[in-house]
Amino acid sequence: MIMQHPIQAPSVALDSSERKRPEEALRESEERFRTLVQFSFDVYWETDAQHRFIRQEFAETLPEPPVSEIGKTRWEVPYLEPDADGWRKHREMLDAHLPFRDFELARPTPEGGKRYISVSGLPIFDTTGNFVGYRGVGRHITERKRAEQALIESEARFRTFVDHATDTFMLHSEDGHVLDVNRNACESLGYSRAELVGATAALFDLDMDEATWRSNRERLKAGDIATLERRYCRKDGTVFPVEVRMREFCERGQSRVICLSRDITERKRTAETLREMQAELTHANRAAAMGQVTASVTHELSQPITAVLCNAEAALNWLGTQSPDLEKAQQALASIVAEATRGGEIISWIRSLIKKAPAPKESVDVNRAIMDVITMARSELLKHDVLIQTDLAPGLPLVEGYRVQLQQVVLNLILNAIEAMNGVDVGERELRISTAADASNLVVVAVRDTGPGLDVAMVDRLFEPFYTTKPHGTGMGLSICQSIIEAHRGRLWTDANEPRGAVFQFSLPSDQG
Ligand code: ADP
Repeated sequence: MIMQHPIQAPSVALDSSERKRPEEALRESEERFRTLVQFSFDVYWETDAQHRFIRQEFAETLPEPPVSEIGKTRWEVPYLEPDADGWRKHREMLDAHLPFRDFELARPTPEGGKRYISVSGLPIFDTTGNFVGYRGVGRHITERKRAEQALIESEARFRTFVDHATDTFMLHSEDGHVLDVNRNACESLGYSRAELVGATAALFDLDMDEATWRSNRERLKAGDIATLERRYCRKDGTVFPVEVRMREFCERGQSRVICLSRDITERKRTAETLREMQAELTHANRAAAMGQVTASVTHELSQPITAVLCNAEAALNWLGTQSPDLEKAQQALASIVAEATRGGEIISWIRSLIKKAPAPKESVDVNRAIMDVITMARSELLKHDVLIQTDLAPGLPLVEGYRVQLQQVVLNLILNAIEAMNGVDVGERELRISTAADASNLVVVAVRDTGPGLDVAMVDRLFEPFYTTKPHGTGMGLSICQSIIEAHRGRLWTDANEPRGAVFQFSLPSDQG
């Protein structure tokens, strides 16, 4: 701000009879003035009408001893700043005898550095209105200048950092307009800075409109970082997935939203590959488990085939006599149809277990699914002298899910239990499978064995992939079981069985939950 009115030098008329007192008063006033300079400014100066320094008073607090410039004009002392143009403008002001305030200049220091000073001055006129010079003050501002410079440099550094980041940075105003972008934003979207600044995110964000922006901002109000998945569209029309982190903050009283987005094409691809690999593994595990129970499967299939043969022979007999018994032949043929249907069912069930493509989700009757698995595992149970007992709760609510996968879990748990009981005496090998619905209608399935039980120290590791204590184990069974149960929004856990052995249990949310 420039001071508006030049002031006049006060004229002091002294009465000779009061000479001593005014001298005293002058000395006191000088002292007061010096104290003022000492505590308020770094330098007090006066120049004459030719801008020559005629007085300089320095504060005692100055870090280095000041060099007096008395007798030199302003232009005779060395300056590093401002440049010639800055000086020319300042000189115009001085020549026009105008007041000035906070004129910043830099002088060289003896060590070759810069000392910044902010100077203010008032033109002085005598009683007849003639310009007699300037009076003014100066303040050393080197520290402040350094801090400002450091800030500018750190902002420039930050800018370089942001520009070289592989993520996209965008600064938005409250209403969603882009205020600033980094280089990656332009490179990844194919727009120039000028095209992006001033536009809204709707230019490149396929899922963004005014309402979405508003609701996102409302979520941000809490001061949290919101993380969203979105689809960005480049200028050439190609689309790629991004993860966006948004945060609102205040910049000079204005609300701003900073968005940092990262291209997640690779991450998505990896997740997809992982999913595929897991599906492959799940299938391989199922096929391996099926391999272990082939004897039961063969047995299950041979039963309807034998029945079909017997009934066909009987039908032939009933029809081959002199007076064919049509009614009996019809009964035999009906049995053939029933047994063939049963055989067909077994085949399609086995096929569904072995098939790679997942069957659609369905409402699963958990008790029935378990009974089918027990049928499959029967010969394995017999071979290892394991007594099986079931305690299936009647009227169990249905579970929404993939029947085959849930059966795979039960089959894995049964096979693990059989293997665990191999080491205990025949006659003590008992497998008990129970189902129940708990108070919140979760369906809980428990598979208990009377094997050696679980090593307490290792319980946490059982579900880790590749953890196995068996010479030919894969260590994938329980890990796959867990991921299947979790995909059904359920939980799989383990406990000690009473009086011995292990219990593996899982719970699943039901239709009625
Ligand atoms: P694998 O059967 O190939 O070893 P799993 O993931 O199915 O892989 O099982 C991991 C480990 O958990 C087994 O090696 C075994 O040590 C332990 N385990 C699993 N079921 C039981 C059980 N019923 N009783 C005792 N230990 C078990």
